[in-house]
Parts: sequence; structure tokens; C-alpha cells
Amino acid sequence: MRFDHLVDVLVIGTGNGGLTGALAAKSSEQDRVLVIEKQGFIGGTSAASGGGVWIPGNRYAREAGVDDSLEEAREYLKATIPPEEYQSDLIDTYLKVGPKMVDFLHENSVVRYESLPSYPDYFNEAPGMKPGHRSMEPSPISMDALGGDAKRLHEPNPATLLFGRLAFTQEELQLFVTQTSGWMSTLLKHLSVYLLDLPWRFKFKRARRLTLGAAGIARLIISVKNKEIPIWCSTRLIEFLTEEGRVVGARVEKEGEVLTVGARRGVLLASGGFERNAEMRREYLPAPTDAAWTAGTVGNLGEGIEAAVKAGASVKFMEKAWWCTTLTVPGESAPRLSIFEKSMPGNYTVNSSGQRVANESQNYQMFMRALHEKHASGENCLPLYMVFDADHRRKYPVGPLMPGKFLPDVLVSKSWFSSGFITRADSLDELAEKLEIDKAAFVETAGRVSEYARSGKDLDFGRGDSLYDQFYGDSEVSPNPCLSPLEKPPFYAIRIDPGDFGTCGGVEIDSRARVLDLKGVPIPGLYATGNCTAGLLTTYPGPGATLGPGMTFGYIAGREMANQAGPDVPVAAR
Ligand SMILES: Cc1cc2nc3c(=O)[nH]c(=O)nc-3n(C[C@H](O)[C@H](O)[C@H](O)COP(=O)(O)OP(=O)(O)OC[C@H]3O[C@@H](n4cnc5c(N)ncnc54)[C@H](O)[C@@H]3O)c2cc1C
Repeated sequence: MRFDHLVDVLVIGTGNGGLTGALAAKSSEQDRVLVIEKQGFIGGTSAASGGGVWIPGNRYAREAGVDDSLEEAREYLKATIPPEEYQSDLIDTYLKVGPKMVDFLHENSVVRYESLPSYPDYFNEAPGMKPGHRSMEPSPISMDALGGDAKRLHEPNPATLLFGRLAFTQEELQLFVTQTSGWMSTLLKHLSVYLLDLPWRFKFKRARRLTLGAAGIARLIISVKNKEIPIWCSTRLIEFLTEEGRVVGARVEKEGEVLTVGARRGVLLASGGFERNAEMRREYLPAPTDAAWTAGTVGNLGEGIEAAVKAGASVKFMEKAWWCTTLTVPGESAPRLSIFEKSMPGNYTVNSSGQRVANESQNYQMFMRALHEKHASGENCLPLYMVFDADHRRKYPVGPLMPGKFLPDVLVSKSWFSSGFITRADSLDELAEKLEIDKAAFVETAGRVSEYARSGKDLDFGRGDSLYDQFYGDSEVSPNPCLSPLEKPPFYAIRIDPGDFGTCGGVEIDSRARVLDLKGVPIPGLYATGNCTAGLLTTYPGPGATLGPGMTFGYIAGREMANQAGPDVPVAAR
């Protein structure tokens, strides 16, 4: 076959999995690795994310002297992932190779992480659960270090920048939202550094300091650049090229020009899920669904999955996503995830029947699973509102809404009220009328939640019982840090949507990250990782449950391709 361009390894997509795979694929200076990305920006959803990576037994946890083992992690996953979703071989490989992947990055790149000592696994009662240190977050880095690539970094999710400018770590976020001692001085420190950084502020709106997913991707970009691996932006995979059943390259569109790229050792597909593809959502995902509710990047239309299917790949879990309620704030570029506010005492979530759906403080994936079950059983879960009272409004942040003691209603953007994003009323009756939800049920639910707050026991859903629920609760509120009576007017409601941060169904791979065909046989030359593959940790058992496997199987694919000579594919100029 004749190609316009020939490399050893072609990587499609620039999320954490793709870039980790590219680094692992280049084991010597002679190896030619090329990364392509359809958007003009690098990093996909990974760059917009919290950047948390769940790898039990990682080097940073070991350095902290944490007592953990592969067996305990396996026991935990067995207890928290249903048998029909439990992919035993892949999970064993992930647990074994995950820590090696972290070592590889630490030893061969500028990628660095910090252990999260108190971010617990999400299912607290499960055997093998750990209260912290299984998840890591990227070490902050200055955007300067990216040089010219700073302008090519994918934009952050609006929720990951304070005032649209200041980045914070996951540790700092917990400090800010729970307003734990030291939060104000930490905030003022970062704010003053930003305000005094005049030369930078002429160039960029956001502060120089990168954290979370942006720091993770920035560190990967720098490492890829140090290894002289080119990243072609604005270059889209159209289809795979095959010869005698082997994937030998891809047809791509680079800035409007169609090219063929040959890949002697193989192609790593890391092109994300199909969350932004309205048609695929309608075809595969449960109702209610809308592409406008996802916080995943606009580039993720499922093209990679479709191209792999055309090349013979088998897919599974297409009905699943990484579910999470989202907030669509007027004027913002992407929905925010609604996570921490759902644990604050004094709010709860209701549907149009005035009923709660589930324990709001539990992990977002399980909340959404409960919502889908309710919706499927005939209880309409659309629209959905988070309701709170004046006390809550004064004390706690809700999405973009800073606590009222810092940002009173008169200073809140008028469009947030006029668009229906926030609704305010002087009584619960009036709020129900404005929201057009069942008044009697709504008021009754409010009374019941207030009773539970006083007794400390949520008899309907057990909110606040687990360590995970309490992570973003208010430790100064007792008897239950996630529950307060909802009594003081005015009352507020914010619209939240049953969204996601990516889809979880895609091509099937084996423990060597090779894509499988309909008979379960590897398709030679084709590897995959990340959200274009069938998800591994489908119940989201811990913080970082998508990036951890994505990076691990990216690493495995890269090593596989680095260690083989590959068929002798000739290149010829056209
Ligand atoms: C706000 C937020 C916070 C999150 N926090 C976390 C967290 O802390 N931990 C965690 O584990 N997960 C988190 N997630 C989820 C996580 O970010 C995603 O699951 C993960 O980034 C998916 O990685 P990926 O490499 O599969 O896809 P992506 O990172 O989206 O990368 C895929 C790339 O492929 C490109 N692409 C698509 N089609 C083509 C094509 N045809 N040709 C070329 N390129 C193509 C896309 O443009 C994109 O850049 C979060 C998500 C959000 C939105």
C-alpha cells in the first residue's frame, strides 16, 4: 500500500490515554510516533477534567507508607462492579500494570502526581475499601513551561477555574467548599500572585498556574515534545486502512487535505467517547438524554468507534456513560459537573412530582443510575431541581453561585434568574408554583428532609451515612454533616440536568489493549484505550476511575508497539 506519510506508531486523540501511549511507544530515538488530534487544541476532556487518577498501590501512596495491596483493591472492585460488567482479565492487568505505568511516567517524563490522602473510595461499606491514597492528582505546573503550546491547550471546564481565572488543586477545592480553616489565606495567596502577575495577564485571562486535568495534560504535552513526538492538530481520523486483515494506517483529514498515514507497528485509537453525538446518544443511551448536558469535549462524536466497527471491531456497554448531574450556566462554554454541592447540608434534589430521586450525596454515577431506573419505571425525572433555603444560600457555594455572604443576590448576574437557571421565591408554595411542580408533594418532601436533618437519619435514602457522602459535607453541622432543615425564606432552586462527563461504551480490547473483532480475536495492528473502549470500572468506584485505566491501557498499547518490529510496510511518494 502507498502512503503519503509513514510512521511506526500512529496515535489518534490527545487525552491522557493517547499521550501516555505515545510516550510508551517511543522507546528509542529512531521510533517514529505521530499523534493526531481533530481539534485545534490538545487534551480533549482530559485537559478539562479534575485530572484525578485512581491507581491503587501507586508510587506516591507507597512513599507515604500506605498499607494497600493488589488483593485488597481486587476485592474492592469485585464487591462494587456487578459480575456481568466485571472484566476479570482486564482488571487484573490494570491493577498489576497501573503502578508500573505511574513509575514509567515518573522515570521517563515530567509527569508528576501527588497522592490524595483523604479522598475516599466511593463505596465505603465494600471490603477492601480505602479511605484515601488510591487517587492522585497532577502536580501544578506553570503554563510558561508549555512555551508555544500554551495556546494549543484545550480550554478548562468552567468549574475548574475560580472567577474564570484561578486554578485550584483538588485538595484546595475541598478546603474552599467546606470553608475549612486556612481556606481564605490560601485563596488570597493565589489571588494576589495572579493580580501582581501583570505581564502574564496581558497575554492570558487565566492565571499562569495550571492544576487538575490541565496540569496533567500540560505535563504530558511537554514530555511528548521532549521526546520529539509531533502532534498534528486539526487532523481528523476518517477511517482505518487495512491490508489482509491488518490495520496498516489511517486515512486522515489534515486542515482540509485528505492524507494516508501508514503505521508499521500499529495504531492506537484514543479518540474518546460519543457524548457529543446526539444521534448516537438517542440510539444507545437511556432516557432522558441530551448532548447539551454532557461536560465532555465537543470533539467526541464517536468517529473513532465507528471507524473501528467498520474495521471489524466489536463493541459493548454502549448504553453506559460516566453519569453525573450537570449545571448549564447561561453564557458558559460547557456544562459544569454538579458534585460537591450535592453533599452540602440544607439542599436536596426533586423531580417534577416534588419527589427526591435518591441519596444526593452518594457518588454521582450511582445517583444517576437510580435516576435512570426511576425514569424508566414511569416517574418523570425531568426537569430536576436542587432546592435550598436562605441559610444554605448564605453559607455554601452552589455551582457558579458563590455563598451569599460573599455574593448577595443583587450582585448575581440577572440572566441567571431571567433564564430560569435560578428561581427564587418567598415560600415553598410559591417556589413549587414557579417551577410548575406538584405543590403538596414538594412541601411534604421539604418537611420530611427537615425532620431527617433534626434526627440525623435520612430514612428514605441514607444521605450522609457514608464517609464519601461526608467528604464535601459540613463537619460543623451535626448530627448529620449532609443534612440541615430547609426552613428559612427565601427559597431557591437551581436547574440541574441528568448529564455525564463522557460515554463508557466502545470497542472491546484484551489485556494487551488489542482491539477484538466480533469473534473475540485481536485485529492485528489496532489498539485502543480510554472512552472509545468498553469501560472498565463501570460503577466509578473511586476518584479517577476513567483516567486510571485510560492511561494504563495506553501505556500497555505503547509498550506492545514499541517491542515489535512490525510488518515491512513500504512507503511510496504519490
Ligand atoms: C469537569 C470534568 C472533570 C473530570 N474529572 C475526572 C477525574 O478527576 N478523574 C477521571 O478519571 N475522570 C474525570 N473526568 C472524565 C475524564 O476527563 C474522561 O473520562 C477522560 O478524559 C476521557 O479520556 P479519553 O482520552 O478517552 O478522551 P479525551 O480526553 O476526550 O480525548 C479524546 C480526544 O480525541 C479527539 N478525537 C475525537 N475524534 C477524533 C478523530 N476522529 N480524529 C482525531 N481526534 C479525535 C478529541 O477531540 C479529544 O481531544 C472528568 C470530566 C470532566 C468533564
